[in-house]
Amino acid sequence: MPSTAQLSQEQRVVLASILQARLVDLERTRESELQGQSQVESARRTLLQDADDASQRSGDHEVEGTASDIHSGEFNAISDALQRIHRPDYGLCIDCQVEIPFARLLLEPQALRCAACQTLHEGKSLP
Ligand SMILES: [Zn+2]
Repeated sequence: MPSTAQLSQEQRVVLASILQARLVDLERTRESELQGQSQVESARRTLLQDADDASQRSGDHEVEGTASDIHSGEFNAISDALQRIHRPDYGLCIDCQVEIPFARLLLEPQALRCAACQTLHEGKSLP
């Protein structure tokens, strides 16, 4: 028997609307942060115009890169989930193929793993 998540069409529609709402939220957050960032950036350029503090600048870039990576990672995970949501394998853990409980999907519709595998996965990636 092929593994197929037992999500009903209605449940998938509910999850899709949650995902879409989150995408809109993320877009708004990103836009307001970009506006804030460009203000900070132009203020800093004015300040640093004649200064030549390369280490200071590379340090700043690392912090900015990390913050936007987190946002684009979440954004990608959510838009990816929206593409998968009507496929039979959506809602199945990518590690153990067990059905991810609907209650968990409601909280995190972009989840790729069941809670147990997610804990293992996060444990592995910790420093
Ligand atoms: Zn699993």
